[in-house]
Amino acid sequence: MVIASRWSVPIPRCSLQQWIFGSVCGPLSDHKAFIDPEDPDTNYLTFSDYRLLAKRVALGLRQAGLQKGDRVLIFSGNSLLFPSVFLGILMAGGIVTGANPSFVPRELAYQLKDSGASFMFVADYAVKTAFEAAAEVGLPKDRVFVLGKGGVPISQLAKAPSPGPGVGGRVEGARHWTELLENSSSSNPRTAEAWNWEEPSKPEETTCCLNYSSGTTGVPKGVEISHYSYVANGCGVAHMNNLRPDAERKRKTDRGLAFLPFYHTYGQTYFIANMPHLHVPVYVMPSFDFIKMLGYIQRFRITTLAVVPPIVVLLAKHPATRSHDLSSLETIGSGAAPLTREVCDEARRALLDARKANKNNNSNGDDELFIRQGWGMTEVTCTAMSWDPNSPIRNSAGVGEVYPNCRAKLVSLADGRTPIERAGERGELWVTGPTLMRRYWRRPDATAETVVVDQDGTRWLRTGDIAFVDAYRPGGIFHVVDRVKELIKVKGNQVAPAELEGVLLDSPDVVDAAVVGVTINGEEVPRAYVVRSPQSTATEQDVAKWMEGKVIRYKQLKGGVVFVDAIPKNPSGKILRKQLRERAQKEVGDA
Ligand code: AMP
Repeated sequence: MVIASRWSVPIPRCSLQQWIFGSVCGPLSDHKAFIDPEDPDTNYLTFSDYRLLAKRVALGLRQAGLQKGDRVLIFSGNSLLFPSVFLGILMAGGIVTGANPSFVPRELAYQLKDSGASFMFVADYAVKTAFEAAAEVGLPKDRVFVLGKGGVPISQLAKAPSPGPGVGGRVEGARHWTELLENSSSSNPRTAEAWNWEEPSKPEETTCCLNYSSGTTGVPKGVEISHYSYVANGCGVAHMNNLRPDAERKRKTDRGLAFLPFYHTYGQTYFIANMPHLHVPVYVMPSFDFIKMLGYIQRFRITTLAVVPPIVVLLAKHPATRSHDLSSLETIGSGAAPLTREVCDEARRALLDARKANKNNNSNGDDELFIRQGWGMTEVTCTAMSWDPNSPIRNSAGVGEVYPNCRAKLVSLADGRTPIERAGERGELWVTGPTLMRRYWRRPDATAETVVVDQDGTRWLRTGDIAFVDAYRPGGIFHVVDRVKELIKVKGNQVAPAELEGVLLDSPDVVDAAVVGVTINGEEVPRAYVVRSPQSTATEQDVAKWMEGKVIRYKQLKGGVVFVDAIPKNPSGKILRKQLRERAQKEVGDA
């Protein structure tokens, strides 16, 4: 049985940038959109400068040769500049693909090659990796732009006709991004301001991002998300925000803190798109730092946090939580991985204790502090289940109800087809709606495996997650309890077993390998089962060491390496992952 959202919200048919700014040209508000929390009075970008800087980047890219539909990879952590580069690419007609700046050259080269990126923006601290990967895939050096750390406040840069050499972060032998602001069409801020980007004629068929995800099986793939889907996601967020009691007043005092990475859809949708659209100022952290986060919440009276479960664990258990005044916080939304009700409750208690200890009279009522988890997936832009802010349920392990404009159903785990009709019964979660990806980039087979078209022509995403719903009615609360897919999640980051198996098989010591997730001390980590080559004398540690330098830290085999005589497989050669997962969990104990 299908459960439709209780909310049907209009979705404008326009580009993401048009939706964020509300207009292509003409005056915009001068409120601060992005603020450097270390230098809030001088280093910030206003809403109008956000658009101006993006337009100048767009014009620069066009002159540098960017064509409609070209992919541009951003290899950088968060900065005040990142959102303007992101939107500049879209305004120029390009497609953004973001990558973790701690990727090793092999991982970056994979994404550069798979996406066919024709330009890359790279943080100055990641240039070495970027050039190595660019050389490997044949991306010319003059198509790589370094995002310097600054030295000149970004508000000045946005309006400066020619930023000049005073801008920091220049790297010998590499092009600096400010070169994009210096050509004949981009150097005059007035001309740039008056420029109209071309709106896509079919926003639902115009890809704006390729966000990498392994989906239910295999290696990471580019998930094609359209402008329309990004806008649909944002309309859902705006709607849920408006449902809050006293929403109008709250919107004026809302403040966001961005430490979730902008190269991932979770950070992008919240901070590059939705908060600016809602005129909520965003304090931008270059990366996550718990103590700094607490300090900024206290200092800037942050009202809303988007987090992943390990951060809720820190809020619950770290003594520093209780020594900070965090009374401004109203909502903490967690996603990307499971969060238990116990941890949620503990974190809420710690925050309420902090309120008492810091005796802040400006506190919101205790009832106005929510810690709740939503559910989402790269393949549905971001969120597909979330909580009605008016829900009387305060404590739940659930992920909320179906997101505006979306529908969900559960399908039998036994045959992968029969719909489930009984509350509480587990099945695979399938979802559909305007936020559903267009397809996997250049992988029709993977798309066909993941998106099922029913008799009515509705495209359903097989999520690979196991869930149940507490009642079959609109507003029923879903609980995500397990996965049937291969994916491993380490601190909210995707780890694709197929990728790690590929790297292991490159080792001369390994003839076969299977990687599964195992939970140790409440955290999922990858564990490898390996068949050694006959002459090999390698130890388990040697095999684990082989991964170093070949994959980013969170993909390392922290769950251990186990030598086996054979990898269990079915007659057609598919790894019996469920069996291995059960074995792995038994071996490490039920932590
Ligand atoms: P990603 O595409 O990286 O956002 O990963 C999506 C996957 O993360 C989902 O398919 C789930 O397996 C997992 N996930 C996201 N949110 C939750 C949640 N609240 N509870 C359990 N798993 C989640």
